[in-house]
Amino acid sequence: MVRESANDADLLNVTVHQPGPSEVASSLSDMSKRKDPPRPVVVSVWAKAAGRCSMCGDPQLVSAIRDVTVTIGEIAHQAGATEGKKSPRGDADVSLPARDKEENLMLLCHECHRKIDSTSGQEVYTVEVLRGIKEQHEAMVAALTDFRTESRTLVVATRSTVRQQAVAATPREIAFALVENRRTPYALGNLTYNVTIDLTDPVSDEWVWQRGMKQIDAAIEGIEATLSAGRVDHLSVFALAPIPLLAYLGHKLGDKTTVDAFRRSRDHTDRAWCWGEETTGVPVFVHDLPDVGRESDSIVVALDVTASVKTERLPADLTDLPTVRLHPSNAAPGPDLLGSRRALDSFGRAWRRLLAQLENDFPEVNRLHVVAAVPAPAAVAIGRFHRPYADPAMVMYELGEDTRYQRALEIPA
Ligand SMILES: [Zn+2]
Repeated sequence: MVRESANDADLLNVTVHQPGPSEVASSLSDMSKRKDPPRPVVVSVWAKAAGRCSMCGDPQLVSAIRDVTVTIGEIAHQAGATEGKKSPRGDADVSLPARDKEENLMLLCHECHRKIDSTSGQEVYTVEVLRGIKEQHEAMVAALTDFRTESRTLVVATRSTVRQQAVAATPREIAFALVENRRTPYALGNLTYNVTIDLTDPVSDEWVWQRGMKQIDAAIEGIEATLSAGRVDHLSVFALAPIPLLAYLGHKLGDKTTVDAFRRSRDHTDRAWCWGEETTGVPVFVHDLPDVGRESDSIVVALDVTASVKTERLPADLTDLPTVRLHPSNAAPGPDLLGSRRALDSFGRAWRRLLAQLENDFPEVNRLHVVAAVPAPAAVAIGRFHRPYADPAMVMYELGEDTRYQRALEIPA
């Protein structure tokens, strides 16, 4: 390999490859045939990769130390630079002149470069695989940086505990979902992801709900400050937490700001938080009103989305109350029923219709006991579309480990 000349150090101090001592000796015979790719090609590869490793995404333009900008990225060859035995993927069916062309080069960090060039790595990272990785990375950079068409969003994420495991959307998962939604994250100082709400306390006691509400209140203050400063007018919510806390979060976010709530699918890839397409059509939700209890001041609201709420699991003091049930009319409840954004919108409209009809038909009701089998974004919608001063207070219930619903928290009228 050939290092950049000192004169070029002010532009891109690109190191093509950093061989270990044993490699140096064995590749000496290749050296005479090798030279660095032309500078415009190198600049283009760096620019299209946004200065990030195409595999792990780590930034490769490192901060300035005393006026000197340091680059740590490496321009890696897909088909090896030479046809020599020591050149990784050197036997690929790519002509020698084409090997220093942009199509054959990609920006990698040192660790990823070593990984793909190692003996075992070469078996996994074939030319085709590397080409795919590069294309995907460049497509994501192009989409994310299309500032003409994208609008900024403030990312609100939770950290929570699900089955004793800490759960949070990763920055990479959030990036994939935002790209698809044509949003760029608003940068708050050097934080990529703007507001994180810690809801990791295992739900066991009433104080946990109170503390969760306090954490949400504190986060909302930061969100409101950013919104009112006019820096951003859209929120992207990546939340996984017990339903009562998500409804409370929705209540605090309110309906005035545009909010996109994302859902965690069972897809364990970088696309875990991307919405899917409907496979069986958009679900339509209807509600069944009770015939009795028009004078009642409390009512049970059962929301059947991921499953049917079993009313025999309700606390004893609720069993005599009139019950309104919201359920899909053209499908069965199930964990994937709200798999698309349109399906979530359909639920939101149905929930608003239900609240409006309760206000009309049950004017004495001042408290709704909400028992919801819903996915996280629907729980956020329950709170967001609950109208302060118009709708009754909502008492939210959570299914306990004993499979009985327990009162968790109250969202005020
Ligand atoms: Zn890397």
